Amino acid sequence: MMEEEVVIVGAGIAGLATGVALQRLGIRALILEKSQGLRATGAALTLTSNAWLALDALGVAHKLSPLYAPLKTGFVTDVATGATQTISHAGAGKDGPRTVHRKTLLEALAGELPIGVIRFSSHIDAIETQLQDGSPIPVIHLSDGTVIKSKILVGCDGVHSIVARWLGLGAPVNSGRSAVRGLAVFPDGHGLNLQESRQFVGVGLRAGFIPLSDKDAYWGLTCLSSPKGEIMAAEPEVIQREVQENYVKDFPEIYKEMIRHCDFSTLTWAPLMFRYPWDILFGNLRKGNVTVAGDAMHPMTPDLGQGGCAALEDAVVLGRHIGNSLIKNGGLIPGKIGQDLDGYVQERKWRVSWLVTGSYFSGWIQQGGSNRWMKFLRYVFYKYLFTRIVGAVDYDCGKLPSVPFTSELGSSKRTE
Ligand SMILES: Cc1cc2nc3c(=O)[nH]c(=O)nc-3n(C[C@H](O)[C@H](O)[C@H](O)COP(=O)(O)OP(=O)(O)OC[C@H]3O[C@@H](n4cnc5c(N)ncnc54)[C@H](O)[C@@H]3O)c2cc1C
Repeated sequence: MMEEEVVIVGAGIAGLATGVALQRLGIRALILEKSQGLRATGAALTLTSNAWLALDALGVAHKLSPLYAPLKTGFVTDVATGATQTISHAGAGKDGPRTVHRKTLLEALAGELPIGVIRFSSHIDAIETQLQDGSPIPVIHLSDGTVIKSKILVGCDGVHSIVARWLGLGAPVNSGRSAVRGLAVFPDGHGLNLQESRQFVGVGLRAGFIPLSDKDAYWGLTCLSSPKGEIMAAEPEVIQREVQENYVKDFPEIYKEMIRHCDFSTLTWAPLMFRYPWDILFGNLRKGNVTVAGDAMHPMTPDLGQGGCAALEDAVVLGRHIGNSLIKNGGLIPGKIGQDLDGYVQERKWRVSWLVTGSYFSGWIQQGGSNRWMKFLRYVFYKYLFTRIVGAVDYDCGKLPSVPFTSELGSSKRTE
């Protein structure tokens, strides 16, 4: 049986960022990832000021911010009427948000970790606990037969988290909407302003694009789910045709261009899931020395673009509480870690429940249809509420503590 100080399940944004946070504290965490390499599903994502503060606390922001221009202005067009509202992205935070390639973000985080810390092709099948010195210790079973004992287990294994299920959290629910996302590539340049985003709102439909560089742009579309969506999930040509023929026929040419220039290797169609906020507030986010972060804790619809940002915040807050445990106790003491993990849960649960709720509400308003009432609500939303809701991103999750000593936490052991 292998023994580790900390095991993280999943090498997505949450898992890698948590690994980096612990690395900064001198704690080596083993990250178990079921895929053969880093998965950049979704092509790109927008990171708002809260995420940049978290990335700064992790010592990674400087690697990414020079690569991407901050967004300043957005244009939201009602497809039926052609009316366009202008919104300011600079409302929250000093700088506007930046949209980054997922692959670049994941590689920037992974680049901060020592070689060998991420173990690919490692699928977690089951979790149990064993008593060690009177304290329950997580024991993780991999599908290749490997068994790992760890003082702390952090589930960063996404929406369908095995760790969340083990904790007894309510299952994520399908919002009844789906998202299509991809990159559009223009080898000769697209000529768009890198600081402007475009959104198009139709009946039950919301779409948009954001240029990432002079030669590529991230585009996406959320729509009411159709049963066909599931079938199409693996076939990019079919997704492209379905979007062109059944969703964006009446859209301006500039949007159709995005879809024509789609890089098939990045094109995905997926249902939008979320966890009820009351399951987060009143559910078990920690049991013994096991907890969750990122989508494993708080899957949310993407309407505020906060799932990944919140995962970065989680990593810093969790790192701070584990770091404080280390400082207080002179090491990670299994019987004492639980109360520090509780501190993490208490600090996170209200904030992420609010983000889940705000995201759902925002999606409902923006995609809710074209009757006069919904149009009025949408007008009010963009005119008066948008900046306030987006204000939730103006949040500083704080820093990591500095650990005044180096402990022998970097090694893993093998015992029988
Ligand atoms: C359409 C859409 C648009 C979005 N836009 C934005 C945005 O603009 N800004 C933003 O901040 N967020 C956005 N999000 C949300 C964001 O994508 C997620 O919140 C974020 O990717 C969650 O990261 P994670 O690390 O928690 O989970 P994931 O990225 O899902 O990573 C989980 C990892 O765990 C691995 N794993 C799963 N099970 C196991 C297992 N049993 N054993 C081992 N490994 C396992 C998986 O392979 C995966 O690599 C969007 C989401 C969607 C759907």
